[in-house]
Amino acid sequence: AEVCSSDYYFNSYAGNDIHMQMLQDRVRTEGYRDFMYNSAEVFRGKVVLDVGCGTGILSMFAARAGAVRVIAVDNSDIIEKARANVAENGLDGVITLVRGRIEDLELPVDRVDVIVSEWMGYFLLFEAMLDSVLVARDRFLAPGGLLAPSASYVYLTAISDAVYMRERVNYWDDVYGFRMSAMKPPVSDSVREADVDVVPPETVAATRALLTAIDHGTATAASLDFASDFVIEATRDAQLHALLGYFDVAFSRKQDAPGPGDAQLAAPVYGGSGDSTNAVPEPASLWRHPESPMAGFTTGPHGEATHWKQTIFVLDEPVDARCGDVIRGRFVCHKSSTNPRELDLEISYCHVAAADKDAVLAGNAPLP
Ligand code: SAH
Repeated sequence: AEVCSSDYYFNSYAGNDIHMQMLQDRVRTEGYRDFMYNSAEVFRGKVVLDVGCGTGILSMFAARAGAVRVIAVDNSDIIEKARANVAENGLDGVITLVRGRIEDLELPVDRVDVIVSEWMGYFLLFEAMLDSVLVARDRFLAPGGLLAPSASYVYLTAISDAVYMRERVNYWDDVYGFRMSAMKPPVSDSVREADVDVVPPETVAATRALLTAIDHGTATAASLDFASDFVIEATRDAQLHALLGYFDVAFSRKQDAPGPGDAQLAAPVYGGSGDSTNAVPEPASLWRHPESPMAGFTTGPHGEATHWKQTIFVLDEPVDARCGDVIRGRFVCHKSSTNPRELDLEISYCHVAAADKDAVLAGNAPLP
């Protein structure tokens, strides 16, 4: 079964369409490109490993950014196209392509100075490819080496979107005058699938909470499963229909840049100014950390849409919130026991009126 599901995974990356979709995601691809082209000190004269090279795009960015040698690894058929792409651009003297799972293969070099990889899935951790990058780090990254990206952050907020509810969730309650409940996504007890879609930024009706911050340099596979208590605050009177998840990634130029443990890094500043510690981020796809040489991008609703979109968790019942009310809860995320490339998420929450929130939040009232 392990072999079958693994084949299925790599076959899903064999065709051209998925790679075109990723390449055409400009927030994503230009985010990597701009970091690499603007970081000569990171790449010039260095040996780089590209984990999951796909078409070879990140390897070619690295070569153009001055790497002396790039090892590009992929376990999907797409690597044959990468081989052709690299040769067509005259980079086969710099880039070596190796087919296989990064967990299993030997590299033609002992250690690499930099690992680049685009491993992010829906809600950041879907697909579980970061696990493979962490294996690559432990097997091949030289002491003091750098991971690009170097950190990632998962956020939760809430939306009020009557149009989405009518057109996507309650659509099957009235189809030309007929009920078609059987067409709704399977719901057993209170289990349902999250939806992946781009939400209009104006539907966001709450502050955001940081659910997890991942330092790629120190994370372990076990640490990627997380449980997080969260508090978000309604920013206007609104009927909240869903919680909304999204992620940011950060590129650092220095191995010893502040890690996610540092408060300042845990709250990246959007758009370059203003305190957005607990506020809805400003409309900007790219942010730059004020005090460290760091860049990155957001997949949040206030940025330009990416192919990751956002992740929508529809509430069992809408919450009628007044401005200043809080949603307090607990978010548990772990790999699914039936398919480790999928995630099981448990979200519990309660609605606390603005007038009660100080007492409730200070008094450690038990979670639902
Ligand atoms: N770097 C490319 C492709 C990213 S998609 C780009 O940025 O456009 C992720 C790629 O990683 C897929 O092609 C997939 O086959 C590959 N991949 C995922 N896990 C891997 C593993 N454990 N070993 C080798 N390749 C892997």
